[in-house]
Amino acid sequence: MQLIYSGDEQCVICNEYCEENEALCTRCRKKMRYSEESFYIGTNDEKYLVWSVFYYSNIVKELIIRLKYKSDFICGEILAKYMLELVKNNELQFDLISYVPMTKKALKNRGYNQGEFLANYLSRALNVPVISALIKIKETKDQIGLSGEERWINMEKCFGVQESKIIKNKKILLVDDVITTGATSFYCARSLKEKGINNVYILTIAKSNV
Ligand SMILES: [Zn+2]
Repeated sequence: MQLIYSGDEQCVICNEYCEENEALCTRCRKKMRYSEESFYIGTNDEKYLVWSVFYYSNIVKELIIRLKYKSDFICGEILAKYMLELVKNNELQFDLISYVPMTKKALKNRGYNQGEFLANYLSRALNVPVISALIKIKETKDQIGLSGEERWINMEKCFGVQESKIIKNKKILLVDDVITTGATSFYCARSLKEKGINNVYILTIAKSNV
């Protein structure tokens, strides 16, 4: 049975009318700035490829904040769909999906890990398993307000790997919400690489310059 358009489709951001099967109106969608190219983080000796769907601004920022701090999983699904589109459009191939972990304490406070939510969505859509490959072993200061260099120091030696047997020689897609300096993703990727992962690709919703 097909649902008949009810006429009360509203944009989740501005409440304006939006087209059938769309959660965002045309005007809001036009404000989302796509990041067209993938890029590397790290150095020539050790670098990881990063794909980000958008720049961290405007509507994208609002959607991420709602997912991250307001348990708004509708916004989470909207964002995850864009990530899925990027994976398909670029024919990204990987054996497993993982995500940036939170400490037990942080997870308890928030109640969920937004990266895990995105990873689970991609997993269902692509039929690729999610693995909780990483653990965060050190509580870190919020990266916001730290300088570039401080962020790298802050994130070093924060992550450990579990289930290292399963991940050996696999290609992993590591999911995160926003990439800024890349310190978090870099150290996650390094931890995995040290355990014999073949390749780690990073996929984030957005990239930010601040
Ligand atoms: Zn709108």
